[in-house]
Amino acid sequence: MSINVLPPELVSQIAAGEVVERPASVIKELVENSLDAGAAAITVELEEGGLRLIRVRDDGRGLPGGELPLALRRHATSKISSLAQLERVATLGFRGEALPSIASVSDLTMTSRTADDTHGWAVSGRGDDAPLEARPAAHPRGTTVEVRELFARIPARRKFLRTPATEFRHAQLGFRRMALSRPDVAFQLLHNGRRVLNLPAASDDGTRRVEGVCGEDFLAHGARVEARAAGLALDGWVATPGFSRSQADMQYAFVNGRMVRDKLINHAVRQAYQDVLHNQRFPAFVLHLSLDTAQVDVNAHPAKAEVRFRQSGLVHDFICRSLHEVLAHGTDSPGHAVQLPVRPPPPAETNEYRPGTRLFDAVAQGSSAYSFQAPAEPAPGVRDGEQSCPRLPAHQARAEPTRQQA
Ligand code: ADP
Ligand code: MG
Repeated sequence: MSINVLPPELVSQIAAGEVVERPASVIKELVENSLDAGAAAITVELEEGGLRLIRVRDDGRGLPGGELPLALRRHATSKISSLAQLERVATLGFRGEALPSIASVSDLTMTSRTADDTHGWAVSGRGDDAPLEARPAAHPRGTTVEVRELFARIPARRKFLRTPATEFRHAQLGFRRMALSRPDVAFQLLHNGRRVLNLPAASDDGTRRVEGVCGEDFLAHGARVEARAAGLALDGWVATPGFSRSQADMQYAFVNGRMVRDKLINHAVRQAYQDVLHNQRFPAFVLHLSLDTAQVDVNAHPAKAEVRFRQSGLVHDFICRSLHEVLAHGTDSPGHAVQLPVRPPPPAETNEYRPGTRLFDAVAQGSSAYSFQAPAEPAPGVRDGEQSCPRLPAHQARAEPTRQQA
């Protein structure tokens, strides 16, 4: 067989395999774009679980008519223009691939208007085929992206989609995650013309949003986390062991506002609960980790669900110790802030998260047995004998799973 250069549309369809799995993944990419555009309110409308229609509308800064066709071009982005910017990227997107990928496997229309324009503009189709032209269209300031008939032209992919009800369930879970990431933004979800979720912009510290997404019960058992150390900040809630779950369905982690499913974070949380939670139970948490963007590599996963920390040992240690402290105090002291002493980085061999190191193996095996070795010389301010993630006092006995929460 001879070697061919693939046509652009096929390239896009192949790339779509990485980011577009189902309606929920389309919603994630579109909502991320709306957040990056500075939206204060985002509405997601679905028909038939998103299989027939996904419409995401925002009131963000919009795009001028001249730039609209570019948004559908592969590797076209307004978010970075150099490697240096990639290394400190603060936006959720940066690859310039979501819209062309989605457009290659659906019928996509994008309508937008900036504050300076007297009317909006719309483009439809696939930017990799032929140059697209924007046509005038009525639209308030902001952007609407409509995605119809996902995978209709690609039977091999359509086959993997489930029933509208199942796709809607996935979509709703993803939507909730996004809504938790930004309590200051209003989120609405409609399905088949009916409003399913209405989450107004929170004017508090995010408590109401957590209540709206995770429920009152979670908050009632939630201990507030507010920890700062070594340029790291951890905020959110962890449920006390009495509110543990039979599955990992209430574990929300965000790194600089980006939702992640990160093994290192999960491992650190698990380890903090080690002494108070039965092995077969799953902790419930909503945690926002903030750190210097240069300290985290977000370009580690096509759907950007995993990240790499430059100082993974420090991050692991910080999360574990902070939560451990909070859990030791229970819910008695809401707003309890933990100030961890800043310690010198542990020896590289023990704290690096890369193949071949202890931390890597422990995380990969899902074991919670790993504990950091304290540096030989404790840093000033660190009490003698204090471990990185110390054991809980004896009276904090291991909580057995309780039936009613199963
Ligand atoms: P990326 O988000 O990685 O830049 P996308 O393909 O998701 O790539 O989007 C391409 C570009 O289209 C973005 O860089 C942005 O300039 C523009 N864009 C996409 N969605 C919106 C939106 N909702 N509002 C304003 N601009 C948008
Ligand atoms: Mg994007």
